[in-house]
Amino acid sequence: MDPTRPKWPGPVSDSRDLVLAIDQGTTGSRALVIDRAGRILSTAYREFRQHFPEPGQVEHDAEEIWTSVRDTTAEALEAAGAATERRAAIGITNQRETTVVWDRASGRALAPAIVWQDRRTSGRCAELKALGHEQDIRSRTGLVLDPYFSGTKLEWLLNANAGWRDQAAAGDLAFGTIDSWLIFRLTGGRVHATDHTNASRTMLYSLDSGDWDPWLCDLFGVPLAMLPDVRVSSGDFGVTDPGVVGAEVPILGVAGDQQAALFGQGGWERGDAKNTYGTGSFLLLHTGTERGPDVPGVLTTAACDRRGGRAFAYEGSVLVAGAAIQWLRDGLGLLEYAAESEEMARSVGSTDGVYFVPALTGLGTPWWEPEARGTIVGLSRGSRREHLVRAALEAMAYSTLDVLQAMATDPDLELRSLRADGGASANDWLMQFQADVLGVPVRRPAATELTALGAAGLAGLEAGVWAEPEEFLAARGLEADFEPDPHGSRAREEDVRGWRRAVRTAIHWAHIEDDGGG
Ligand code: ADP
Repeated sequence: MDPTRPKWPGPVSDSRDLVLAIDQGTTGSRALVIDRAGRILSTAYREFRQHFPEPGQVEHDAEEIWTSVRDTTAEALEAAGAATERRAAIGITNQRETTVVWDRASGRALAPAIVWQDRRTSGRCAELKALGHEQDIRSRTGLVLDPYFSGTKLEWLLNANAGWRDQAAAGDLAFGTIDSWLIFRLTGGRVHATDHTNASRTMLYSLDSGDWDPWLCDLFGVPLAMLPDVRVSSGDFGVTDPGVVGAEVPILGVAGDQQAALFGQGGWERGDAKNTYGTGSFLLLHTGTERGPDVPGVLTTAACDRRGGRAFAYEGSVLVAGAAIQWLRDGLGLLEYAAESEEMARSVGSTDGVYFVPALTGLGTPWWEPEARGTIVGLSRGSRREHLVRAALEAMAYSTLDVLQAMATDPDLELRSLRADGGASANDWLMQFQADVLGVPVRRPAATELTALGAAGLAGLEAGVWAEPEEFLAARGLEADFEPDPHGSRAREEDVRGWRRAVRTAIHWAHIEDDGGG
């Protein structure tokens, strides 16, 4: 263990064996109590309201988020019977990019939180592109110039509210992503901090310096005085106010949701990757402690090393993954439960030449074609629903391959295995097909709450609940390992070529002009 790191609350004691993980997501807040053996002793969940003031705008009530976290935390601690003396640490993971501004003195949020999905600043992003700032922003932040990130959202708030910029410059107002907001409230206003993974999603943070970028803050008119202190993901983020969770508990781990999942999956070193197969899918490929070269269509983002320290990753997103199965179920009625897709895929030897590109909301990494739409090609008289369902599962695997191939520009950056999580990773057929398509093993842990476990790991390692990262990983368990079929590579290549033709067809459809039927 690194002897220079402060430990709280002093020497590691066997009796402090519980970690509280707070997983603050886009639709709800979850709190979990986890013990040293990696068991989830209790969980509590609360949804909160989504606000859509205008088309393209999405807001959350930051106060409601706070109360949902405070209440689920209390509930989980009580349900686990977690005595005060056993509470070692708190780990926080959160929806990223969502932007909150509050008054330091009262601790109250001053406006609704602008959620990552909110597109209100797309005009401003177009303007910044026209001004020629895209490349500069890209090289400083690793991000693409898009409303998704916090920078233009915060700029919008400062422009929309007269006097805020001056108050912020005077130190009276604070900005934060959801992690900072929760840390501030949990510590009774004593700590205003964030971690490097969350900071890297704000578009105000320099990946190279590891701190706020004065040029970017100037560009967006953001006073440095309103920004949180940036810290590594495992470390001291203050101690909770006893009035809040009943006792003083140190906050020792913080990371954005995707980076927490990567950490929870044991993705600590160059070449480690995880994919979360949910509604969409999110893939992170760890590139080590040095920032990799920029890759077109792929984000570079901060990630954690084995101790929560600064490292880097490539990030890609597939907009529709499990949602394609949902659509076949709810839109077309081809199946009753998502899990049925596994048996249906097995019941046919192939898709019989059918490809389904589920670009229902456009295409993400690496194509970035917002106008592309869902496309089914290769139908014949013999095509059956089983073929279509199988094609939807295959599309998840092929899309993952597309993302990884886009990232593989550096010959030294070799993918060793892919770690899977998310709802659709329960599908054994899909996991095997994924391993065959990638030609590397796909590993699925026994645990399901990887994001929360990652936050718990970051905090519990710092607290000494686990002395070494491997101990934490062993507690988490590995359930299944899917090895690639050593004989399937030729057939795979042909299938992948077919998939690429289908993707090109979907993109082509979005771009060819309507000739009026003449
Ligand atoms: P999110 O967190 O994005 O809401 P989840 O991780 O809960 O999503 O995963 C749900 C998605 O996974 C749904 O889109 C569903 O269709 C899909 N899914 C769930 N189980 C399976 C399965 N066994 N096979 C294929 N897809 C599945």
